[in-house]
Amino acid sequence: MANTLNTIFKATPLTVADIQNPAADYYIIKLNYATDRHFDWKPGTAGLFTLPHQKNTGSGFRFFSIAGVPDEHAITIGTRTGKTASAYKAVLTHLHKGDRVNLRGPIGSFGVKNDSAPVVMIASGVGVTPFRAMALDLTADQTRPIKLIQSAHGFHLFQSDFEGVAQKNARFEYLPVESGKDAQTQMLATIKELGDSAYYYLSGSSKIVKANKQFLKQHGVPARQIITDVQFGY
Ligand SMILES: Cc1cc2nc3c(=O)[nH]c(=O)nc-3n(C[C@H](O)[C@H](O)[C@H](O)COP(=O)(O)OP(=O)(O)OC[C@H]3O[C@@H](n4cnc5c(N)ncnc54)[C@H](O)[C@@H]3O)c2cc1C
Repeated sequence: MANTLNTIFKATPLTVADIQNPAADYYIIKLNYATDRHFDWKPGTAGLFTLPHQKNTGSGFRFFSIAGVPDEHAITIGTRTGKTASAYKAVLTHLHKGDRVNLRGPIGSFGVKNDSAPVVMIASGVGVTPFRAMALDLTADQTRPIKLIQSAHGFHLFQSDFEGVAQKNARFEYLPVESGKDAQTQMLATIKELGDSAYYYLSGSSKIVKANKQFLKQHGVPARQIITDVQFGY
């Protein structure tokens, strides 16, 4: 218990390596370890990020899913600012290379639950962040079908990473779609193909995760096979 509390409350110091704005209000932020202290997480979980030495950051912290795997030896996060960035994100997205960010956690238990069942990941918008971690982690797993249905209008965050996983793993199927309706079409085809042998992982805003969960249940997927990650705040 003392160890768990220690990992959650003791900060892992990071420094900004790179901030990209690949499209519209999307940001990809790469952070390096600032010291020998490294972070340990299970792909799919999140962290609590604070911005020490920065002023005017509003509440001063946000939760972000860690969009990478420990093997990358760095921490990647993905976010959106909306039309007007919150005080926190206005500061975050304008940090400079070398600026300090603190990470605490890991937070949550989202991630692949089963070593053999097919994996179906269903993302809306920036909800795709935990799936970059889970997909990279499954790159070498050719024992079962793995699908990612990524619904986003116009821009699909981390698309090239997912295409890279699909190139390396013939059992990984990447299905980017442009709308919730197209996502439902893919979900129906997937249910027809895999039924309830699969686990269905949902990530996104509370509203969309709820709607997708309802849709899956209506089409025969048992609730116990549906694992959700709600990115509260959207
Ligand atoms: C486990 C977990 C993982 C997450 N992973 C990610 C991730 O990978 N990427 C990501 O971008 N986000 C993620 N989030 C959500 C993230 O923590 C933020 O809540 C989210 O990004 C919104 O932050 P913001 O600063 O843009 O908006 P905020 O300032 O936090 O506002 C959130 C919402 O509340 C509204 N709001 C704010 N203040 C007020 C007010 N005074 N009155 C009325 N309405 C108000 C805003 O309009 C907005 O709709 C995650 C959350 C959790 C819990």
